[in-house]
Amino acid sequence: MIFPFPDRIYKDVTRITPSELKKMGIKGLLLDIDGTLARTKDPGLTKAVEGWIGSLKEHGIKLFVLSNNKSPARTESFAKKIGCAWRHRSRKPSRKGFFKAAEELKLRPSEIAIVGDQIFTDVLGGLRSGMKTLMVGSKDTYLWYFPLRRLLELPFRFERRRK
Ligand SMILES: [Mg+2]
Repeated sequence: MIFPFPDRIYKDVTRITPSELKKMGIKGLLLDIDGTLARTKDPGLTKAVEGWIGSLKEHGIKLFVLSNNKSPARTESFAKKIGCAWRHRSRKPSRKGFFKAAEELKLRPSEIAIVGDQIFTDVLGGLRSGMKTLMVGSKDTYLWYFPLRRLLELPFRFERRRK
């Protein structure tokens, strides 16, 4: 039984620094879109997130967009802005998308972290795939069902204890 505690929790995706990733041995990131990089209804990235992506790339962190969004157009458009490979309808927490992404990045799962705003998709899928899990504060707090989601996640919104 896996208890889906994230390895780290951040207020916002832009708080994750390349130096911290290096310390954790992370060479690649799988990026969730909705609620993580942008609000679910937003078509693009804020300047702050764009700048963050740029600094990751400067530091040689490989990127991959792993989304559960059903729209290939939306997923591709974000991946194009970022300049990386992508996969839509990933069915996170299914491991399949995580492993396909690892293959494309040519990295081992242990060298990869999933960055996402949801415990039962991003964090759980990352853990099941042997990846690090970085949870970020969701940008989707305006959605009507957000309080319910938050309530269900509450027991697991604590950082995983390191051995
Ligand atoms: Mg999300």
